[in-house]
Parts: sequence; structure tokens; C-alpha cells
Amino acid sequence: MTALQSAHDTSTVLHIDALNAYYGEAQAIFQLNLRIHKGQAVVLQGANGAGKSTSLKAIMGLVKRQANTLALNGVNTLPLSIESISNLGVGYVPENRRIFTRLTVQENLHVAARAVIGGAWNEASVLDALPHLKSLLKRSGDAISGGEQRMVAVARALMRNPSLMLLDEPCEGVAPKVADAIEAALRLALNQGVALLLSESHDGFAQRLEANTVTLHAGSITV
Ligand code: ATP
Repeated sequence: MTALQSAHDTSTVLHIDALNAYYGEAQAIFQLNLRIHKGQAVVLQGANGAGKSTSLKAIMGLVKRQANTLALNGVNTLPLSIESISNLGVGYVPENRRIFTRLTVQENLHVAARAVIGGAWNEASVLDALPHLKSLLKRSGDAISGGEQRMVAVARALMRNPSLMLLDEPCEGVAPKVADAIEAALRLALNQGVALLLSESHDGFAQRLEANTVTLHAGSITV
């Protein structure tokens, strides 16, 4: 057991201390601190360009980053690849949705569950959480609406049985019905102890999920 793991409070899923993130030489995130516990939702807010997406990407290892601590369930993720971080139990829903448009909805779910061992979420429970997808299983990813693709992206993240979900503006630009469906699925995940970190530019979702909010401005948390 590492020193980090032995000092780890078992209810803490994500622990970030003094995270900096960069695009090339340009620093986009400055000294971000955040701790998220099991079953807790935190919403990153802030204007366009404030650093919400970059914070999520830094946690996933998609941009260059450096920190005093960046740990998932007590495991230091700083040296890990994106794939290893994902396999530790992070379900990431990027802003551009990232589903396989040439695969069917069902294939998208199965591919997401690859390399996942056990857990409460499987195809049946994910479809119970997002029942609209049941009628779309055989449809190709490019033959469903943008809102439906968003639901598939959330379903794919759930199929990974995550302990942490990172969702970049999951309800931006979708119809209220789709937003309600995604919100209900995320509420179920929260009730099962999943930790959520979401970004959004409006505060409706944060209020409805009773989430803590963190506001970013120019890459730093505002106080
Ligand atoms: P939005 O709500 O518009 O998505 P955001 O809060 O998610 O905004 P980020 O996309 O994280 O903001 O951007 C943070 C900073 O990083 C901004 O100054 C932005 O210009 C810069 N940035 C974002 N993506 C890149 C990139 N690929 N290359 C260089 N700089 C980038």
C-alpha cells in the first residue's frame, strides 16, 4: 500500500490538490483543489473559456497536467495512461458525446463494458435507467438524434460501472425531455454512491441535483 492509499479517507473518490493543466506552453488551469465523496455531485460553473472542460480533461489525462495530488479512490493517477484511468472506474462523457456512429446503440453499450468486471450496471439496468434507448438498440449511432446520442454517451459511461463520472455539459442544447432522462439516470447513479463531476454554463442542473458548485474564472476557482 502506498503512503497515499494509507492516508486515504475511504469515502473520498476524487482528491485534487493544486492541479495545473496546460495546452502546450499555455497554462489553462491554475492550482485547482477539489475533493468529491461517494454519492456526491459537484458542478463546475463558469463562462466560456473559464476552464471547465479542461479540468475534466486533466482528470482524464487528456491534457498535460501536474499536481500535488490527483487521486482516484486513493490511487495516484498522475503517472497513468488515459486507458488505465478509465479502467480504474471513470466514466467520461465529453462535450462532443463520443459515441461510435457506425455501431448500433447496443454495440456502443457492449463496447463500453469491455474490460469491466462486475458491478451494478449492466445492459438491463442501464436501459431501465434510460428506457428511451430500449427502442433504439438496433439503430446505428448516426441514425439517432443528438439528444439520443447524448443519452447513449451517458449510458456508455454507466456501463463502465464507474466510481466517478465526468460529464461535460451533459444537457447543453438538448430537449427538456432528454435533460430530464439524463438527470434521472444520474440521480440513480448518485444514489448508488457514484461521485459526479459535471460542467455546465447554467445553474439549473446543479440546483436540481442539489450539487455543490465550484465556479471557475480564467482557470482558477473564484472565492
Ligand atoms: P466552454 O463553456 O466554452 O466549453 P470551458 O469553461 O470549458 O468553456 P475550456 O474549454 O476548458 O473552457 O478552456 C479553458 C482555456 O483553455 C481557454 O482559454 C481556452 O481558450 C483554452 N483552450 C481550450 N482548448 C484548447 C486547445 N485545444 N488548445 C489551446 N487552448 C485551448
